[in-house]
Amino acid sequence: MRAVVVHDYERGARLEDVDVDEPRAGEVLVRVAASGVCASDAHLLAGHSSVATLPMVLGHEGAGVVEAVGPGVDGVSPGDHVVLALYGPCGECAHCRAGELVLCDGPARTQAIFGRMADGSTRLHQGDVAVHPMVGIGSLAEQVVLRAAQVVRIDPDIALDVACLAGCGVTTGVGAVFNTARVPPGASVAVIGCGGVGLNVVQAARLAGASPIVAIDNNPMKLDLASDFGATHVVNSGDGDMAELVAACVPGGVDFAFEVVGDPDLIAATFALTRAGGTCVVVGIPPPGSTIPVDAGKLFWERRLLGTTGGSNIPGRDIPRIMRLYRAGRLELDRLVSQRLPLEKFEAAFDALARSDVARSVVTCA
Ligand SMILES: [Zn+2]
Ligand SMILES: [Zn+2]
Repeated sequence: MRAVVVHDYERGARLEDVDVDEPRAGEVLVRVAASGVCASDAHLLAGHSSVATLPMVLGHEGAGVVEAVGPGVDGVSPGDHVVLALYGPCGECAHCRAGELVLCDGPARTQAIFGRMADGSTRLHQGDVAVHPMVGIGSLAEQVVLRAAQVVRIDPDIALDVACLAGCGVTTGVGAVFNTARVPPGASVAVIGCGGVGLNVVQAARLAGASPIVAIDNNPMKLDLASDFGATHVVNSGDGDMAELVAACVPGGVDFAFEVVGDPDLIAATFALTRAGGTCVVVGIPPPGSTIPVDAGKLFWERRLLGTTGGSNIPGRDIPRIMRLYRAGRLELDRLVSQRLPLEKFEAAFDALARSDVARSVVTCA
């Protein structure tokens, strides 16, 4: 099968043939229909990712159809439509046993983060060279083999080239509001960065009943989308000092501020947008090893700086919820897809991401 493989950062990513093993016990073989291209893919391609294990197949926001299941898999069957989940709790570690599935640190999950099965093996090869799927998924490919914990069945009438977004961007943005921050009705919210994840923070804040919702970006097209997704105010960060512009909308600071870019200085600036007792949620992923220069005096006044693992999402809970909200017309997914590209044109998705001019590119793989 064909897959987008990174061997080294100088050569970049190329579409290559990769051999796929049969799924073993507890594993599922999926024919990928579509995969969104996310900033984390670009970070990996640029050599800035802490989860890279080269050679690696890019892609982690996929959906497809189950082709085969290994022994012991009874939750899905061949023919089922599934979203490929960023995280799959192992069910056996101390955190899982305590019900803290988001914090799972069993080998099945911790190895998957680096593209391996629990025993360190992979199901992808080029000759005798092991190839690793990004975060155990590697969905910029025609096929993937993953742990059954990393697939969530969805209704077959939902388009897979839309459903795939629930694999990362939508669950992260929506989960940051519902699970991590637990935004209550009437709360004031600021969202810094309105790309494929930030727009979902905006629409989840709307669903939570937040008001006002201030969307901040330097791209007018994304701000237009943010308005459509539920922002009550939009601020172009190129128009001046962000703190002053937001204060003009919400005097005294916001209850919740979400940073969805991953820039340490911007996180500090986002933290400073909160009122006393307010909460800053860091949704973006800062470069490995970076530190955040927060104002300690502001921290004193009961402000909270929260991290989140992909929107504190539990795939088996959050992906069906997203699908229900989408089906009910309450969560917008279709308009998140700015362009669709065939697998051979995957590079155009990375070009668009670098130009920051699309919400999401979706690569169709089958
Ligand atoms: Zn992602
Ligand atoms: Zn676990």
